[in-house]
This record gives sequence, C-alpha cells and structure tokens, in this order.
Amino acid sequence: MTGSGPDGEGRRGATGSSRYRGTAYRATTGAPVVPPHSSRVDLHTHSSRSDGVLEPPALVEAAAAAGVKCLALADHDTLAGVRELFAAGERPLALELLPAVEINSVATGIDRLWEGELHILGLGVDPFDDAFEATLERQRQGRAHRFEVMLEQLRALGLGVDAYLPDEGTVVGTALGRPKIARALVAAGHAASVDDAMRRLLARGRPAYVQRHGLGPREAIAAIAAAGGLPVLAHFPDARDRMDLVRELMGAGLRGLEVHYRRFDAETVAEMEALATELRLVPTGGSDYHGDGETYAQAHATIFVPEEDATLVFASLGRSAAGLPFDQPMP
Ligand SMILES: [Zn+2]
Ligand SMILES: [Zn+2]
Repeated sequence: MTGSGPDGEGRRGATGSSRYRGTAYRATTGAPVVPPHSSRVDLHTHSSRSDGVLEPPALVEAAAAAGVKCLALADHDTLAGVRELFAAGERPLALELLPAVEINSVATGIDRLWEGELHILGLGVDPFDDAFEATLERQRQGRAHRFEVMLEQLRALGLGVDAYLPDEGTVVGTALGRPKIARALVAAGHAASVDDAMRRLLARGRPAYVQRHGLGPREAIAAIAAAGGLPVLAHFPDARDRMDLVRELMGAGLRGLEVHYRRFDAETVAEMEALATELRLVPTGGSDYHGDGETYAQAHATIFVPEEDATLVFASLGRSAAGLPFDQPMP
C-alpha cells in the first residue's frame, strides 16, 4: 500500500517535536539518508499483482538495471508474481529473487495506529505452501469484496471509475487494493493525484473508505512463520515509543524490523537500527516501490539498504547467501 492518509498525530506529539507527518507511510521529515553507494539490496517492492504499477518481469528488469542484486517482491496477500517469475526462469533471473508477501493486518484493539493496521512482511516464505496460499486466498477475497464496496460508494457519490480500472485485476492471484482505485480516479479526472484521491476519498474517515477485514497481526505472523518465512514489522517508526507492542509481537513470533525504509529520515534509521540490535530483531530494508509518479531508478536513488541486511535475512532463514555476489567490489 502506498499513498498518504489524513494527517495524524506526530510521533513526538507529546513532546512537541513531531518529525513525521503522520501519513500512511510514516514519512519522517528530518535529514534524509545519504546513500554511501548505490544500493544492491531492496527487500520490499510491489508489482501489478497487488497494488504496484509494473508487471513482475518489468520490476525485476528495472531493479537489475539500477544495480540491485537481491530483490524481494512483497506483493500484498499474493505470491502470484513470485511464482510467475520462477516459472518463467528457464534462464536465470537477473538477480537473486526472495519470495515475500506483505500482510496489512487488522490490529483490532490496538490504539494509535494508522488506519488501525500493522503491516507484516513475510520474507522468504515458501511460494508453494498450500496452507499459506489458502490463507492468502481468503485475504484476497476480503480485498475483492472491499474493492467492490468502495466502487459502489464512489458510484453513489457520482464518481464512478469502472471504465478506468486496469485489466490486470483479472490475472489469477491478483490482490486488489486502493491504489488501483486511486489511479482510476485520477484517470477519470476525479482526483489530481493518487495521494489526493487517497486523502480526500479513500482514507479512513473519508466518504469512500471501507473497513478492512482479515488477519490480525498475531495471525499474520503465525501464518508467515508456518510458511517458512521471516515475519518482519514494516515501516513502523513508532517502535521505540511502543516497545510493549513490539515485544508482544515478538512473543507471537515477530523476528525482524524494517530499519532501512525509504521514507525514514537518517535519525529514524539510526534509532531503528539500535532498536533492532537491542531486541535482536533482524534488520531489513527496502523501497516499498509501487510506481506512482516515479520510475524504479528514481526510487532506488533515494534508498540505502546495507548488504548485511540481506545476508542476515538469508542466514536467519537458514538459506545459503552464496548466491549473493556481495564479495565482489562495488563497480
Ligand atoms: Zn505497507
Ligand atoms: Zn509495501
């Protein structure tokens, strides 16, 4: 998921030095991270099999062209793109592809969360695990229902977008999401941008918002672990201030923390890094690239994910990192 939600409380609201805008992706607003060199790792991306813009092969191509050697395709609630890429791989892929998913868990009973959600990444899940696929299929059915109700609400508002929805929604295993509706609203001339559509119409509290139903955070973590994956708490810069919650999630099986996130400022990254070390969580990182208004290369230029993150993720999955060419010097 991407886009901005309505303004919320800053993370330092109580002390008055808010560093982020309280938007969907917890963009922090301090000094940006300055990449010491071009990043060869990206462990968080989306394709058109969920709410991204690029088809899976185009995403891999763009990432490889930008110098990425290890890429996680982490579509929401689907491994369809990963399976397609592996099936097409008679020739080796241009990079090491790590199967992954992102589950937008519904955090009922946990307050002060954007849209009441915690996003859990599952890095290295088995893309051919039947039980996990059945779980994801239920999630996708929930998404399809929510999508339909949002379209109905937009029609009732006189903002029908049916003629502007992309065809790829019909590809088997595609997980529908709000950005597709937001892009259709832009195409139909009902919104100036995806962010504008999210902010005015689709975010919680707005006229076309529909409550999500699906896995809770503990269930999402358990399902990912059962499928052999590393459960990671995604883009949650409030972690330091909400240690009880993080520890509770660790009790449920959480093992990783997204530290190097594109929308985190340098101070937040440092803080998250220290927290991951303190709690012995595996640090991960990625662009969360979706493709609205930017190419992959543009997104990639603003991230830095240390190669060590990929090495630690592979080690924690019990997988050999031998395929990662990080022993070679930077070009
Ligand atoms: Zn997310
Ligand atoms: Zn994401």
